[in-house]
Amino acid sequence: MMIDDERVSLMDIALRLRLGVVASCNCNTKTPEIRYHNELCPTRLLEEGAAEIERLNREMAAYRAKLTPQDVEAMTAVIKALTEEKARRSTDSGKAES
Ligand SMILES: [Zn+2]
Repeated sequence: MMIDDERVSLMDIALRLRLGVVASCNCNTKTPEIRYHNELCPTRLLEEGAAEIERLNREMAAYRAKLTPQDVEAMTAVIKALTEEKARRSTDSGKAES
């Protein structure tokens, strides 16, 4: 399902950033505490980016949680009807008017 794929890829991006954090410090701060690193230190930039992506992911998950299975079913039905209508129209316009 597309919605789940979206969530997986966001978490994948966050994970990649976190992997980049390891040994990326260039401000010589010997602590995992991000706030002690220089504002432009890669460790801080990557960690802040990963945290922001995780926050976005939680926000999106909370929004999705508000949709009931009936909402999803209704949306799917509308998309299906529109797709069928579009297919029918393109078939109709393909026919020669006589
Ligand atoms: Zn640093």
